[in-house]
Amino acid sequence: MVQNVSPLPSVDSLLRAPETEVLLTRFGRTAVTAVLRETLSARRAARAFGGPAGEIIEQAADHLAARFARSQRPVFNMTGTVLHTNLGRSPLPWEAAEAAAEALRSATTLEFDLATGHRGDRDDHVEGLLCQLTGAEAATVVNNNAAAVMLVLNTLALGKEVPVSRGELIEIGGAFRVPDIMSRAGVILKEVGTTNRTHPRDYVGAIGPQTGALMRVHQANYAIVGFTAMVPTGILSGIARDAGVPLIEDLGSGSLVDLEQWNLPHEPTPRESLQAGADVVTFSGDKLLGGPQAGLIVGHKSVISAINRNPLKRALRLDKGRLAALEVVLRMYLDPDHLAERIPALRLLARPEADIRATAERIHTVIASRWPDREITVEPCRSQIGSGALPVDLLPSAAVMVGGKQLENIAKTLRGLPRPVIGRVARGRLILDCRCLESGDEATFIAQFAQGKDTADGGEAAPVGRPDFKPG
Ligand SMILES: *Cc1c(COP(=O)(O)O)cnc(C)c1O
Repeated sequence: MVQNVSPLPSVDSLLRAPETEVLLTRFGRTAVTAVLRETLSARRAARAFGGPAGEIIEQAADHLAARFARSQRPVFNMTGTVLHTNLGRSPLPWEAAEAAAEALRSATTLEFDLATGHRGDRDDHVEGLLCQLTGAEAATVVNNNAAAVMLVLNTLALGKEVPVSRGELIEIGGAFRVPDIMSRAGVILKEVGTTNRTHPRDYVGAIGPQTGALMRVHQANYAIVGFTAMVPTGILSGIARDAGVPLIEDLGSGSLVDLEQWNLPHEPTPRESLQAGADVVTFSGDKLLGGPQAGLIVGHKSVISAINRNPLKRALRLDKGRLAALEVVLRMYLDPDHLAERIPALRLLARPEADIRATAERIHTVIASRWPDREITVEPCRSQIGSGALPVDLLPSAAVMVGGKQLENIAKTLRGLPRPVIGRVARGRLILDCRCLESGDEATFIAQFAQGKDTADGGEAAPVGRPDFKPG
């Protein structure tokens, strides 16, 4: 006779247990059964026999909660990098987020013209605004700026040469490298000049019958200083015109307004590039613009029409949610007097140091009482704009700084909070830059510290991804 070696309860008996009822209501029979099976077989494999049924159900409840929890969650960005690519870049104005959510929930006029009752074009919602804000003749939008650059190159110079200065062959965050994008776009990169100096004659010498376009790439996340020379857009556009080829300018961040009004360093605007003679300009929606991820393309009507006829345009197009958000953000630029209040990216960048310091002082109290044995201070620091914008100019800010050993334990505890807190460790200290912690969020930040007192100093962080669900 075969002996039953498993004293574990059966799945059926666990499904009938009163503690399971709440799980069945919340997650459904299929998922609960599967997880109970997995829990039982994990115990069998670990030879963890016995144990009350309640314990097994609790374990299954934890697994279920983790499985159903959202992976992408809001965090507190205290890294000191405002437009942090890994943390989702620019936060949207709430009106833009609302518009996106509403569009995603319902049928919309995405490609429908209410006046005629006929088919419309999804670009119609933003093209006029982009033209007004940049002075361009025409405009279109795609998935992101990398897509914009690829599409423009592929449209204007497929199979042809595109001279680019060696000082502009940049890499952004590893994934976007100008030479790689160019080759995938089907154009031939022709390097001109040197890393630190490129002259008009370098471009002129590189132009030949195979040239399809000239391209300039904004020196985004780096600076070349010292013995340098580059050809301004105004001069380069003259060279392009003489050669009968278009000039493409990839601005990267491309602010729509003059940032100097908030004492931020100047960032070239698409309007300036177009005025200087660029035929087509590309820039990101979620960098200094403060909108959703998007690639904005503005320029001559003939160029934009050619882009719209390129079959790749369809592959790179923007969805209705982001288009709705972008439209709202662009409309905000029609009233330049209220930009720094309405657009979070600009508000955070323009935030006065004294205001940031006041936040730092307030949250210092809760952090210091949480880790009373550590040296925790409020100190001035420098924030970065991020996303490749303006790399050398740092913004005066204030941070709560935590000293001592095993800072990774503290960082981990902070990452394990219901709304994770992401700081950075530098020169032996954990730095929590308070620039992006605005007063509206401060209460949430403080409240979750008040709740989390049961965790020991640098102890085990709460499991990530676990919602506030408790069985029974
Ligand atoms: C950021 C950037 C890109 C890539 O833009 P995404 O919107 O991230 O695709 C391309 N070129 C420059 C100069 C940039 O700064």
